[in-house]
Order: sequence, then C-alpha cells, then structure tokens
Amino acid sequence: MIAPVLPTYNRAPLAFQTGQGCWLTATDGRRFLDLGSGIAVNALGHAPRELVQVLTEQASRLWHVSNVYTIPEQERLAALLVEKTFADTVFFTNSGTEAAELAIKMARRFHYENGQPGRTAILAFEGAFHGRSTGAIAASGAEKMVKGFGPLMPGFSQLPWGDEAALRAAITAETCAVMIEPVQGEGGIRPASDAFLKLLRQLCDETGTLLIFDEVQCGMGRTGRLFACEWSGVSPDIMMVAKGIGGGFPLGAVLATERAAKGMTVGSHGSTYGGNPLGCAVGAKVVEIVSDPAFLAEVSRKAALFRQGLEALVAAHPSVLEEVRGEGLLLGLKCRAANTDFVAAGYGAGILTVAAADNVVRLLPALNIPDEDIAEALARLDRTAKTLEQAQ
Ligand SMILES: *Cc1c(COP(=O)(O)O)cnc(C)c1O
Repeated sequence: MIAPVLPTYNRAPLAFQTGQGCWLTATDGRRFLDLGSGIAVNALGHAPRELVQVLTEQASRLWHVSNVYTIPEQERLAALLVEKTFADTVFFTNSGTEAAELAIKMARRFHYENGQPGRTAILAFEGAFHGRSTGAIAASGAEKMVKGFGPLMPGFSQLPWGDEAALRAAITAETCAVMIEPVQGEGGIRPASDAFLKLLRQLCDETGTLLIFDEVQCGMGRTGRLFACEWSGVSPDIMMVAKGIGGGFPLGAVLATERAAKGMTVGSHGSTYGGNPLGCAVGAKVVEIVSDPAFLAEVSRKAALFRQGLEALVAAHPSVLEEVRGEGLLLGLKCRAANTDFVAAGYGAGILTVAAADNVVRLLPALNIPDEDIAEALARLDRTAKTLEQAQ
C-alpha cells in the first residue's frame, strides 16, 4: 500500500525535533552536526536569533497580502538586492524551480519583443540541476528526472561541462539564452572556471544571447562572495536565487537587468505567495547580514580552515576519499567508496552530509559555523572514513 506521503524520496530513518546553530536533535534524543543545512538553505544555521526575531515580529503583524497591493517588505528586499548586485529589478518566488520558470519565460519574451519570436533555443549543461518543473527538467535533460514525463518543453539542449569548443560551436545568433550554475551543486560541486564564464559572457555578447546564472545553491554568500559569479567578474543578464536567501523560509527570486526584463509587462507573470511580507521580511534580514563584507570575509576564513582539515582528511584516508572540491563553504568530497555509504556511515558518527552526482558527498554548513564546530565536523568525518575503511 502506498504511504500517505508520496514515496518520491529514499528517506533516512531520522526525524528531528529541534535545531540550534549547526546542531539538530533527533526525536530519539541523538544530536547531529548538520553539514547539509537543508541543502544550503539554513544559511545562518537553525533558529538564528536575528531571524526568529524578524519572523515572529512580522508574523504578529502581517503574513500575507496579494501582489495586487504594494508590499513595503518586498520593495525593501528588492531595493537591497538591486543595490548589492548587477540587477535593476527583482521578481520574488517561493522556490528555485519557480525562479527557473520565470528566467526561461523572461529570456524568450525578450527576443519576442525584439522581433525574433523564433529565437527560443536555450543551452544548458550536462549535470545541471535547475528544479523539477517540466521546464526545469527539460533544461537539465537528465534521464532520471525526465523519464516518462514527456513531451518536455521544447528548445533545450545540453553541452558537456566546461567544454569551450562545444560552447563555441553551439552558440549562434539564433540562441535565446544560456543557463548555467557557476558552481554545479547537485552535479557534484563542479565549479566552472573563470575563463569559461568569461568566454561565455563574450560569446553571449557577440551573438545577442542572454546569460542566465542559476545561483540557487552557490549564491547568497556560500562561496565567500554574495554571489559566486563575482569571483570571475562576469555578470549575467538574469539570475535565479533561492535556498539560502530565506534562511529556511521558502523564498526565491529572479534578478534581471532592465534590458533583459523589458518584455515583462503588467499581466505577463505573477505569483500568489511570491514576495509575501513574511518571506520578504526574513529575506531582507538574511541579505543584510550575509552581504556585509565582514561576514563574507569570515565565510572565507572559515572555509580555508575547513578546507585545510579536509585536505588532511583525504590524505589520511586514500582508500575512501579521493579529493576535496568546491569554493568557500560549498564543498564536496569526491569519494572512492560509495558516496551513499559515506553519508550513511556519517549518521552513525553523528554528522549529516548530502550526496551529489559524480560520487560526491556535499558539505554545506551554515555560513556562520563556529570554528569549534568545524573542528568537531573534521573529527566526525574522520570517524566516518575510519568506519568505511574497516568495512573494506
Ligand atoms: C535546489 C536547486 C534548484 C531548485 O530549487 P527548489 O527550491 O528546490 O525548487 C534550482 N537550481 C539549483 C542550482 C538548485 O540547487
């Protein structure tokens, strides 16, 4: 008999009752050090004081009103994002998937408004993850996501990751947009090189193609800059944001230049919940905290500390681990043992990690993880690796 909860997840037999900082307490009382952060969502840890304060204050005042009215909390968050990024304008969503949908619509509408309605082809990349809507799975093209769900939204093709020749060959004056994660998350913590992103920007400019960055996972301070693309100096025309921006409250956004957004006129798009006062009040606090240069410098310092320990961990367990990957606190351990075995052994050692493609285990701690928790994480990861060694 089918479970009351649709069985689309292979769930671990772990349920949690409370969370504080980087720690979760299970219903049976066991404590776990959380290096998954709800997949890069709890950017400031569990129940951070500043966010609880903003959330409860806003909740006691006003949760939801329709977007047919002016929403000051939304205007404030949009102004903050415009001030801190390449963007001139922002639309708020409840998730990364919805941000992908709008990014696709906005790009196609742009060329339609420019008198090129047939310019609909969008290039994406192998290993990409942009969400689970029919549009987002078409962009990814991965067999396990698209199987049996066709006909898919047409117009998408996938290029090999990091392949400059394939990119040069594929992008033409007929291309609508290129959609890319500056660091692939689900795909196995695979950063695009600065050179690749620069070439991409150059080819988009030469052909009039729009550049869409998906920073749903790699953005919001995770790499030590507010957005990962800042490291390369390359700005997109459209950017998808979600996960960390709500600190745990479901919130996403599409950031765009005025030029890219020019087709999105009154009535062309909408959302019932997107940009509600509760989500935007929390989001504004997250952006305020994370965009502070002193906070971002701390992310980089903690990341260097963690990475140094991880390199030593890999060196100490060569039969289990192969290499450390990633940028900032968006880290991956490429495994020699099965990544799912590593995650499961971690449960035994009281540490939560998340599997990704390419046999990688993701480490995505809260951006404000205390140094002593980094030390404790390294000790628990060491115990996890030892367990797998003994089983070999
Ligand atoms: C998680 C993710 C999405 C989808 O976000 P949801 O909030 O799950 O819809 C899109 N792109 C990337 C890069 C992601 O990591």
